[in-house]
Amino acid sequence: MKTALALHGGAGTILQSSMTPELQAQYESGLQQALQAGYSVLEKGGSALDAVEAAVFSLEDFPMFNAGRGSVFNHDGKHEMDASIMNGANLTAGAVCGISGVRNPIALARLVMEKSEHVLLSGKGAEAFAQLHSVAFEPEAYFYNELRHQQWKDAVAEDKIILDHSEKKFGTVGAVALDAKGNLAAATSTGGMTNKKFGRVGDSPIIGAGTYANNDTCAVSCTGHGELFIRSVVAYDISCLMAYKGYNLEQACQEVVHEKLIKIGGEGGLVAIDKYGNICMPFNSPGMYRACKDSNGLEAVKIYPDV
Ligand code: ASP
Repeated sequence: MKTALALHGGAGTILQSSMTPELQAQYESGLQQALQAGYSVLEKGGSALDAVEAAVFSLEDFPMFNAGRGSVFNHDGKHEMDASIMNGANLTAGAVCGISGVRNPIALARLVMEKSEHVLLSGKGAEAFAQLHSVAFEPEAYFYNELRHQQWKDAVAEDKIILDHSEKKFGTVGAVALDAKGNLAAATSTGGMTNKKFGRVGDSPIIGAGTYANNDTCAVSCTGHGELFIRSVVAYDISCLMAYKGYNLEQACQEVVHEKLIKIGGEGGLVAIDKYGNICMPFNSPGMYRACKDSNGLEAVKIYPDV
């Protein structure tokens, strides 16, 4: 039985014109490490769920992606993170939003799925749940990053809310996988938008919007302008087009990312995998940090569009 994994480090890449070979190598090494962390789980016969958690865990620990350690600053100069995970085998899901100090939000989302009767926990309550389950916390210094701090100062000065990096950019991490038993899973984690206010939450922790998995169709993890992705129920729409219209994964991704989202100005992309292990990584932004690997020998790490 085929196994496969795809992941992303956000659709808000540094524009190709501003990218240096050194920076590119650093981003690619972060993607490669996460690919290894996730795919080695599948190689050892592990579950899709464990594989996506391991891949996202690795991306959260890598300071250049906007999730976990590399999360952007909110309006108050703090970090508020969102994450979600879904098991396509039984449609169980767990998510957290607006949490601070948790080292790996994806691990907490999984605990919500497995150790609570809820799907989505927010803020202080989610942090109390984390403490109850001895989840690792880190001091603010762990999440401090010079580049992110500068972006935040610029955003506050201009009273702008920005989606990672400096221009109109996005950042989030996510992974999807198919294991040898035919199970699909998806996971997504983010620091959200720089200078976000009022407890803003994007699509990443919203099951059906930023994350979805169903063994009958596909697993999807999104990145992009969260408000538009929520309004388009992007991840579930891909699954629905396959279930109700008989689309294949590629047709569903094409319609949602390159037609429906474009129509409402929804910039971003996603990684998706179907029950046969086909992988799609579409985006309508200038680039998307992404990588994939399968048991047929496919392996790729990319940032910009294929030419
Ligand atoms: N979708 C995320 C959010 O809106 C951001 C991103 O993917 O860059 O919070």
